[in-house]
Amino acid sequence: SAYYIHQRRQNSRRVILQDEVKHVLEPFELSDEQLRRVMANLNTQMTNGLKSNDSENNDLAMFPTFVNFRPNGQESGEYLVVDLGGSNFRVSHVTIEGRNRLRLKNKIFLIPHSLLLGEGEKLFDYIAECLQRFIDDNSLATHKPADYKFDLAFTFSFPCTQTSLSQATLVSWTKGFSCTGVVGNDVVLLLQNAIDRRQTLKVQVVALVNDTVGTLMACSSIYRDCRVGVILGTGTNACYFENLDNIPKCTGEWNQSTKQMVINTEWGALGKHGCLDFIRTKIDRELDESSLTPNEQVFEKMISALYLGEIVRLIIIDLVQSSILFPGRMQKAPSRACDYNIFLSLRGSFYAKHVADIECDTTEDLSVTASILTSIGIHDPTYDDCYIIREVCKTVSLRAAKLAAAVIAVVVNRVNMPSVTVGVDGTLFRHHVRFRKNLIRTMSRLVPRTHRLVLSEDGSSKGSALVAAVNRHTQETLTS
Ligand code: BGC
Ligand code: MG
Repeated sequence: SAYYIHQRRQNSRRVILQDEVKHVLEPFELSDEQLRRVMANLNTQMTNGLKSNDSENNDLAMFPTFVNFRPNGQESGEYLVVDLGGSNFRVSHVTIEGRNRLRLKNKIFLIPHSLLLGEGEKLFDYIAECLQRFIDDNSLATHKPADYKFDLAFTFSFPCTQTSLSQATLVSWTKGFSCTGVVGNDVVLLLQNAIDRRQTLKVQVVALVNDTVGTLMACSSIYRDCRVGVILGTGTNACYFENLDNIPKCTGEWNQSTKQMVINTEWGALGKHGCLDFIRTKIDRELDESSLTPNEQVFEKMISALYLGEIVRLIIIDLVQSSILFPGRMQKAPSRACDYNIFLSLRGSFYAKHVADIECDTTEDLSVTASILTSIGIHDPTYDDCYIIREVCKTVSLRAAKLAAAVIAVVVNRVNMPSVTVGVDGTLFRHHVRFRKNLIRTMSRLVPRTHRLVLSEDGSSKGSALVAAVNRHTQETLTS
């Protein structure tokens, strides 16, 4: 019958499409052999970064963080935490009473986009203003003595060179931040000055902590074998405890009693000098070249939430241009061409959340995918369109999960303990179900030793408070 022929045609068209789609997606598929090469390259870059601060040749900064302790359950007190650099800007109040007894109250503040690209001083003034509002709204200062000052830990998720816990020079912005007057300056001082400009605000910034370090500390307070902290979110990074013997660039500066120090790897920068070129695709290069920071954070741009959607969008554009997707659409629906053009021309108009939701679409008619596509301006997609786009999302997300697994594997292997717990936080890990499954599955192939990944809820803020607490305890011991 006519119907049968139609079906046949449809099916044969599907097969042809699939080959073409496969051809486009093939460069995104990674074998275990390729992953092992990524692992070897990261391992070499880590070793080089620990030897010297030669940013001309090293991909990884491997920053000493001046955190050379693990929480021991004796920490106490109340702390304020400002957490800047993830998907949200948050102010928290953390009270610590002994092991596992952390209470956290926090509030998310929106940062107007213009502040991310304007003058740094304005951004810090805004942070101080939010801090003031938070203290007032929660009446935190009401029963305090007149000369009371809060200790504040600053979770600042950008690459910084530190010379102590409370001194940190911003090396470069990442993740779309780009305020003037901050790179090359001490961000602790910038925040302290903004706080001091508000006369009623009595707060002392006592520690600057990368979000990975906060995550590690929070998780360490619960799991004895936790030695690694990882962020898989807007950006990506990891830190871990390294033996001082393995940090040639630190020799001499450290007292004899210290055996280990947390190193902030800044692994997002992997690939800066070409060691990932063997797996980077034409799309990865395109994304990088049109970004605010070409040739920076090469690895981060392949896996983190800020870029996943954009990778998918660029592949879709590729497929549209070769008439594999939406064939004839422009002619059929000229009135809607406008929305459609916005999607095609607007960088960042497809989100990691869309990738996550589409790849989990198990409806028979792919209606979830269809409604997401409609919501971003691609009206009335066909079943084929939806099917192909779901394939694209699955492939890009799987690649990200595999790469994340490979780099975590390297750090876990380096820690060299019979079992290792990795504290993880970030939107990708938390909300992206298939990403997390693929990550865990790949890691079990790549890591011989016992390991587990544990979600460190609010870790970056709680852990920073722990750092401030240990610091206060040390100061008290030194002065008594
Ligand atoms: C930053 C790191 C941070 C990571 C996760 C990266 O872009 O360079 O310092 O830890 O994002 O937030
Ligand atoms: Mg965060």
